[in-house]
Amino acid sequence: MIQAKGYAAAIAKAPLAPFQFDRRDAKDEDVVIDIHYCGICHSDIHQARDEWGGSIFPMVPGHEITGVVSKVGPKVTKFKVGDKVGVGCFVDSCRECEHCKAGLEQFCETGMSATYNGREQDRKTPTYGGYSNKIVVDQNYVLRIPDNLPLDAAAPLLCAGITLYSPLAHWKAGPGKKVAIIGLGGLGHMGVKIAHALGAEVTVLSQSNKKEADAKRLGADHFYATSEKSTFTKLRGSFDLIINTVSMPLDWNAYLSLLRVDGSMVVVGVPEEQVPIGAFSLIGGRKSLAGSLIGGIAETQEMLDFCGKHNITSDIELIPIQKVNDAYERVVKSDVRYRFVIDIASLN
Ligand code: NAP
Ligand code: ZN
Repeated sequence: MIQAKGYAAAIAKAPLAPFQFDRRDAKDEDVVIDIHYCGICHSDIHQARDEWGGSIFPMVPGHEITGVVSKVGPKVTKFKVGDKVGVGCFVDSCRECEHCKAGLEQFCETGMSATYNGREQDRKTPTYGGYSNKIVVDQNYVLRIPDNLPLDAAAPLLCAGITLYSPLAHWKAGPGKKVAIIGLGGLGHMGVKIAHALGAEVTVLSQSNKKEADAKRLGADHFYATSEKSTFTKLRGSFDLIINTVSMPLDWNAYLSLLRVDGSMVVVGVPEEQVPIGAFSLIGGRKSLAGSLIGGIAETQEMLDFCGKHNITSDIELIPIQKVNDAYERVVKSDVRYRFVIDIASLN
């Protein structure tokens, strides 16, 4: 066994605290990674506080992992010691179902192994995430980080980046398309950067005017505060695609009214509560309401290469792991510009 250390929540809503645990020794196709950085995703908070139910404790959160390969198993062909690598939201899947074969491992029929708050494919061994110094992952679930991207600011690409890239690509954001991003947080700010790089006309819909200058600097063409009622009359029927990154329940019907005929609103934010939808919000205008969950391994690599080519990383605030509980409070208050990343060297 490999001795690892990190920070864990012992029970739901407990503050995260130092935690020692074991990682498996490298099997034939495993890569041992020295973790350098791990982003803090709002999903970490939802799960550490058991807001979605069914959380497994103790929990070492973290699925925006970057680091360097320190050892490889004898049958590893894709990576070597010293490579800059990343690990995202899952570390395994069945590899045999229709979706795994299509590169949509996130929709594995028997369930992917989430990087934390999950179980290995044996359905028994709990998984522990990236708020820790080492991780052991099968080579087929490890991503390559482009050389020109710094490992700290690249970490959030592993979840926030792919979660926005995947729907932007699937719904064909690009030149001539009007895209709105609701919520300028960790996910939202990656959406602005990526949609802009894809050539779309980008609008940010934020609660207040506070983030307007940032939004424009990140690549937004337009910015509107949703606290102003006139925003919804002004923008009625405007967008081909709206991506909703907000973790709180909003009036989705009001946002659907901002779509053009045949437009789509894609939900990626995950509120605890159910959100009511009226049929009239969809039928007048043949509108679609959809959802999207992270992305598969091949698409995550495609996103990383795209970000390498366009020099896209996250705007981060680097923190020592001892500040993780304060960072959680600030994320909940939308007080982060725009992603916290833990410097794992602070564990020592
Ligand atoms: P975040 O950094 O907290 O950003 C969320 C943003 O939503 C905030 O910055 C804020 O932007 C806006 N917001 C917050 N409270 C609001 C409210 N009451 N009313 C209106 N807007 C509000 O969180 P994140 O890490 O980007 O994650 C966002 C959500 O996506 C979470 O629920 C997370 O679990 C989920 N998620 C989903 C996937 C997936 O695959 N589908 C992957 C990762 C995360 P403004 O200040 O601009 O209004
Ligand atoms: Zn995440």
